[in-house]
Order: sequence, then structure tokens, then C-alpha cells
Amino acid sequence: MENEMITEPLRLEGRELKPPLIIAGPCSAESEEQVLLTAKSLAAGGIKIFRAGIWKPRTRPGSFEGIGSIGFPWLQRVKEETGMAVAIEVATAQHVNEALKYGIDIVWVGARTTANPFAVQEVAEALRGANIPVFIKNPINPDLELWVGAFERLNRAGVRQLGAIHRGFSSLNGSIYRNQPLWEIPVRFKEMFPEIPMINDPSHISGKRALVFQVARKALTLGFDGLIIESHCDPDSALSDKDQQVKPDDLIGSLSQLMREINDIAEDEDVEELEELRNRIDSCDHDLLVTLVNRMMVSEKIGKYKKKKKMSVVQNSRYNEVLESRLKEGKGIGLSEDFVEGLFKYIHQESVNRQREE
Ligand code: PEP
Ligand code: MN
Repeated sequence: MENEMITEPLRLEGRELKPPLIIAGPCSAESEEQVLLTAKSLAAGGIKIFRAGIWKPRTRPGSFEGIGSIGFPWLQRVKEETGMAVAIEVATAQHVNEALKYGIDIVWVGARTTANPFAVQEVAEALRGANIPVFIKNPINPDLELWVGAFERLNRAGVRQLGAIHRGFSSLNGSIYRNQPLWEIPVRFKEMFPEIPMINDPSHISGKRALVFQVARKALTLGFDGLIIESHCDPDSALSDKDQQVKPDDLIGSLSQLMREINDIAEDEDVEELEELRNRIDSCDHDLLVTLVNRMMVSEKIGKYKKKKKMSVVQNSRYNEVLESRLKEGKGIGLSEDFVEGLFKYIHQESVNRQREE
């Protein structure tokens, strides 16, 4: 299939939106006070685009499903009192019609909606003739075609200002991430459609505050055009996604530090090469740590199994087998036996300790 897409640069009030595109705000609009408090702190830190979910597509019923249309006047106050543009998620024609009626500046299609072509088509028809930026999140499943298909549906309905949001992919296997980043998918998308801005949603990928800016760093060093980050004036009391929301001041602090790092690299040509290499090391180390946590999670499951079956934690034959195969594999890709042996001794010891705690 051809990759034809007729797009235009994203604009707000006629002005082109230049990267880095930074969008921040709570997962959900919960009260007028929460919305305004969060927005004012973010605006004071220089954030220009505010996000807040009005309708929340929740995986399971019974969780907070959004405040609904009564939140629109709160967002209008955000616009008037902070000058920020406002962005919400839309999933149905009614959502689009209300968003347009209330002067919402930017909309995005959520991951669960992107996965459903009927819903995307409905949203696309409702957006016909509306000339606002529309972001499309990747579908929850790792399906590049489905993501591209959503862009094509909107594009065929005449939507020209299109942006992509990489928010990671669901998986059955336990992971330190809430949603697996599978970076190769957005990278492939960027290769197919270099003119479509791609921003990263480190909040929904990481699912936890401590990881948000690690993921954001990785995205920016991979050349993403910006970030959408969840921020709440009081994250611990948030009605949705509380573990991943950061306080506005923390967001401003971490983001400006991250931007400084990234800009230093871009500005100073002399240090560019070294900084670029150091960035790659940072990114490799991040991946290493994540892989280690994932391994420990599997190891803990094995620990539970052994306990249930009354097996001893240390199985020498299995350990020798593992070590031998890792030594062989390591040697084959250029790692010394001493190094691999030392590394796996540490890893094994940590696994044993964790299994003993089971
Ligand atoms: C959100 O942005 O709060 C949201 C519901 O995200 P996603 O569609 O990525 O799950
Ligand atoms: Mn959320």
C-alpha cells in the first residue's frame, strides 16, 4: 500500500508549532480547582499547551470515567487566565462536536480508540472541515498498520494537521514498564512519515513517576519532536493514573534539566560527539537496568513456583547450565569469559536472594 499522506504543519492561531512540542496536564480534569491550580503552575514554568481528559476510556468499568462536559468551562478558564492552548481526548463524534463547540485547540485520539477502525472513522467524519491539530496515539497493540490506518482515515476526511503520540503497547508479560515502548515501532513510523511530528508519552509508558524522565530522555535523544506528560497538583489524590503523574514543579525542574542536556549537545559542536556517545551510554544503561528488573520479576515467579513445589532455591545443575550457555553466547559476541562469569554470578546471587524472600 502506498504511504500517501497530505499533511500540513501543526498550527495554533495561525502560528506554526515548532518542536519541541511540550504538552502537560493531568490525566483527568477532576475539579475546577485542580484544573486551574495545575494549569497555573505549569504556565508559570513556561508550558504552553495544557492537557486534561474530560472523558476517560477505562479498561475496566467502575474506575473514574471522567467528569464529562461540565469540565469545558474549566478549560475555558485555563485559556483565559493562563493563555495556554488546551487539548483533550476524543473518542466519539459527540466528543468532537463538543470539543469544537467549546473552542478546544487540539484533540487527540486515545490508544483504545486507535485500535478500533469504526470509532476512528466516526471521529474522522466528525472532524471533517475542522482545521485543528489532531494527534493519534499508537493503538494498544503493537500493530504499525493499524496506527497508520487511523492516520489514513483522518487524512481522507481532510484532516491535514496530524501528529503522532507514542504511548507504548500493552503486554501480558510482567515488565517494569506499564506499556512496553517497543521503540522500533515509532522509529519505523518516523521513517515512513518524516513530515508527521512524533511526540512521546513517557507517563503511560512508564506508569510510575521514577521512570518518566528516563523514558523522556530516550525519546528526545532518538529525535522525537516533543513530549506529552501527565502532571497533577496533588498526584497522590488523583482519580486516575496517580502513580505516573508528577507535580508541576517537579515536571518543570526535570524537563528544563533534560532540555539543557539535549540543547548543550546540539549547540556545542566540539562536545557533540562525546555527548552523543554519552547519551547512547545512558540509554544503554537504562535498557540494562530495565532488563535486569524484568529478569528479577521472572525470577520471583520461579521462586513462588519452587516454594509451592517445595523445591530448593539453588539448583546447581540449572545454574551450571545457565552459566555455560551464557559464557558460550557471550564469547560468540565478543564478551570475555571472566566478564560474563562475574556478571552472572552477581545476577544469580540477587535472584537467589529474591527467591529466598518469596
Ligand atoms: C490518557 O492520555 O490519559 C490516556 C487515556 O492515554 P492512552 O489512550 O494512551 O491510554
Ligand atoms: Mn492517563
